[in-house]
Amino acid sequence: MSAEATVEDLTPVLGAYLDNNRINQVRRAYYYAEQAHEGQMRKSGDRYITHPLAVAGILANLKLDHQSLMAAMLHDVIEDTGIPKDALSEQFGDDVAELVDGVSKLTQIEFRTRAEAQAENFQKMTLAMARDIRVILVKLADRLHNMRTLGPMPYEKRLRIATETLDIYAPIAHRLGMHSICTELEDLGFSSLYPMRSKYIAKALDKLRGSHREIIEDIRGKLEEKLKERGLPGKIMGREKHLNSIYNKMKFKHKSFHEIMDVYAFRIITETEDDCYRILGVVHSLYKPLPGRFKDYIAMPKANGYQSLHTTLFGMHVNIEIQIRTEEMEHIANNGIAAHWMYKNEESGVTTINQARVDKWVKGLMEIQERADDSMEFIEHVKVDLFPDEVYVFTPKGRIMELPGGATPVDFAYAIHTDIGNAAVACRINRNLASLSQPLQSGQTVEIITAPGARPNPAWLSFVVTGKARSSIRHALKTRERAESLELGRTLLKRSLKGFGAKLSDISEAQRQLVVNHNQVNSFDDLVSDIGLGNRMAYLVARQLVSGGEAMEEGPANLENTGDGKAGPVTIRGTEGLLVKFASCCKPIPGDPVVGVMDSGNGMVIHSDTCSKLPEDDEGRARLTHLKWAKDITDEFSVELRVELERQRGVIAEVANAVAMADGNIERIGVEEQNAKFGVVSLVVHVNGRRHLARVMRRVRNIRAVTQINRVRH
Ligand code: MN
Repeated sequence: MSAEATVEDLTPVLGAYLDNNRINQVRRAYYYAEQAHEGQMRKSGDRYITHPLAVAGILANLKLDHQSLMAAMLHDVIEDTGIPKDALSEQFGDDVAELVDGVSKLTQIEFRTRAEAQAENFQKMTLAMARDIRVILVKLADRLHNMRTLGPMPYEKRLRIATETLDIYAPIAHRLGMHSICTELEDLGFSSLYPMRSKYIAKALDKLRGSHREIIEDIRGKLEEKLKERGLPGKIMGREKHLNSIYNKMKFKHKSFHEIMDVYAFRIITETEDDCYRILGVVHSLYKPLPGRFKDYIAMPKANGYQSLHTTLFGMHVNIEIQIRTEEMEHIANNGIAAHWMYKNEESGVTTINQARVDKWVKGLMEIQERADDSMEFIEHVKVDLFPDEVYVFTPKGRIMELPGGATPVDFAYAIHTDIGNAAVACRINRNLASLSQPLQSGQTVEIITAPGARPNPAWLSFVVTGKARSSIRHALKTRERAESLELGRTLLKRSLKGFGAKLSDISEAQRQLVVNHNQVNSFDDLVSDIGLGNRMAYLVARQLVSGGEAMEEGPANLENTGDGKAGPVTIRGTEGLLVKFASCCKPIPGDPVVGVMDSGNGMVIHSDTCSKLPEDDEGRARLTHLKWAKDITDEFSVELRVELERQRGVIAEVANAVAMADGNIERIGVEEQNAKFGVVSLVVHVNGRRHLARVMRRVRNIRAVTQINRVRH
């Protein structure tokens, strides 16, 4: 390779707007990248470093700040050389490292699905991922240079990159008002995708240019003369149509090449806004304007900030399109947001990046938006970038889901399908297992793991952010609560009936209806469900059912005869669900004598029968449900232990080890109180019953330093 470009070739461009210190920082980034990419080659045979250098060159022509240029130099370092982000932070500061990281993340996204509907979401995702708009600018310059040097790539890859450019990057450049980059990306993309068509149009354009030259010069001469006559400043330029836009007009507006090219287009660049309107008057006096074709984008700028006057005239037997704008409007029309990036600090003479100015520009756009009532398109996209409030994530099949900021895998699961949400048990984010409550970030691939028979967890309500997830979880919980309250209610009712020597299956339909009417509920199921929820007492309903109406008129319940003794206890397994809970005060475990307390609306709470929270009076005792444990319980229950011990090195570890040796799981361990010699340790341990607990306690008691161990009940 001869006379390869180096960073020194950039110096004159940089010198025009950056001070020496900043130029040196850009240089340093260049040399760092050069070393990192040492030995890597582009497909063209050039050294790899020529690519980042060219990307920085594109941005330097837009007069972007030194950090963007440094990021451009380093933009492939993380991705291609494995140098970590931290190393860049250390060398070049956090801002530059963040920019490089942001560009790398965009590079890593695979734009997998080509579906039309996806393109828009991909654009939004790209913007949402780049917290800093400069990430997008570096990425656009990267893409532009890759498109310019697409030639040596294999056909398949060329096709993919060109399609992606037309679907994602050109529209983003358009949204950011960067007309020059946008049209170049479009033309390059078009000629890569359709080389034959593009050659044909280019050839026809060439031919036309020759035959049109005369008339163009003629019109230009007349316009110039007229401006001079009125003493108005103005540069008159002929405008070329772009290949891609000609092709699109032919394809989508069904116009012939000659129809499109029969229009002669000029642009007049002048000094002030006033000049624009004066020049408009002049051209209208020269040729007749076509009605309905005049547009005042100076008073009413376009959504992306574009300003200009447009008019079409009829003269010399052809249509003449004219755009009139100031130098500054021209600059903004070409470079969009990048044009707002830099400004000259009058006092120091130094050009600096000014976020406030960019923000002001965006704010200005929003005001334009309100006035113009135009499409919300642009604002929405700038908004997701500057104030990101949405996340865009992939399904495993590559579909993009849009979710509000803070959304979790559970929200994602319900967004896909209610059944997926209801059966979710875990998830993978970018192929790694992750918690269902972890907030998602744009660009992640999320996979929900479901299990048959799984049910939504009430705790999910504390972190989901979408209405769909919230209402689906509530609905599922309600359905589940209903099923469980019916089951528990039926168990309790059957048992009470047994106390009266009756069976539920023996109670007639008429008798049931009588009791339903008396209690003013809608159905017998509602009555049973009420029992399960703890809103009604099983034995009262049972007595009404067996007495066939007589007992209904009786006032307060006759508590001496609840039938409880004859009925026998209800069997408890510990896996009954939402409506059977274990009291946190006495923490009963299998083997402990237990009783149930109906808690109105919430089902049953199981206490140890010696618990101090239980009612002591006869009436209260009579309302308790007698329970017994099922025989084959394998579930674990938590129990609290208090251990007194002599303080010595490693004694806590010894206690923990003893619990583990007895197959107990420690949920919590903490030192309650201690002095120089003694300490009290509180342990919460999972065991499957009293025998298991005894084993755990024996192990701990055997530790020499342990002086006492007790089970704690509050
Ligand atoms: Mn690159």
